[in-house]
Amino acid sequence: MNDVHFRVGIGHDTHRLEPGGPLRLGGGTVPHDKHSVGHSDADALLHAVTDALLGAASLGDIGELFPNTDPAHHGADSARMLTAVCERLRGQNWRIVNVDCIVFLERPKLGHHKNAMRMRIAELLEIPAHDVGVKAKTGEGVDSVGREEVVAAQCVALIERSSPASLTPDS
Ligand code: MG
Repeated sequence: MNDVHFRVGIGHDTHRLEPGGPLRLGGGTVPHDKHSVGHSDADALLHAVTDALLGAASLGDIGELFPNTDPAHHGADSARMLTAVCERLRGQNWRIVNVDCIVFLERPKLGHHKNAMRMRIAELLEIPAHDVGVKAKTGEGVDSVGREEVVAAQCVALIERSSPASLTPDS
């Protein structure tokens, strides 16, 4: 008899903003006069999604899989890191049920970009776009988000798999 197992994961990421655009976010670029700084392409939203999926599957975190001390990951495409993680999940028979995300960015307003981010994340995760949520919040002018010092993102992910009795939860 097969049991369906559900697991939830959470991801968070922050990247510093520096002058000069565009801004890499959600697997695409947003026209802006600042960009995010990081060892990879510094896509905070994709990093949060990646960590949420890794957490749900108990597979560690993005820093363990793609260490920023490894020159091979310098300027790395975060979409490729995310798809590599999706492959690992599929290899363990996990299916992504849905993800829900929040981007914290003072400016620009992301209203016109949220749908493109949803579509791109859905494409990378190979799930329907209606199973991806992307919301955007400003920092109301306070703290590091409000002072336009950082872009941050959060994500929760739900995954499921049908496991025969011979599979342990951690296998
Ligand atoms: Mg990051």
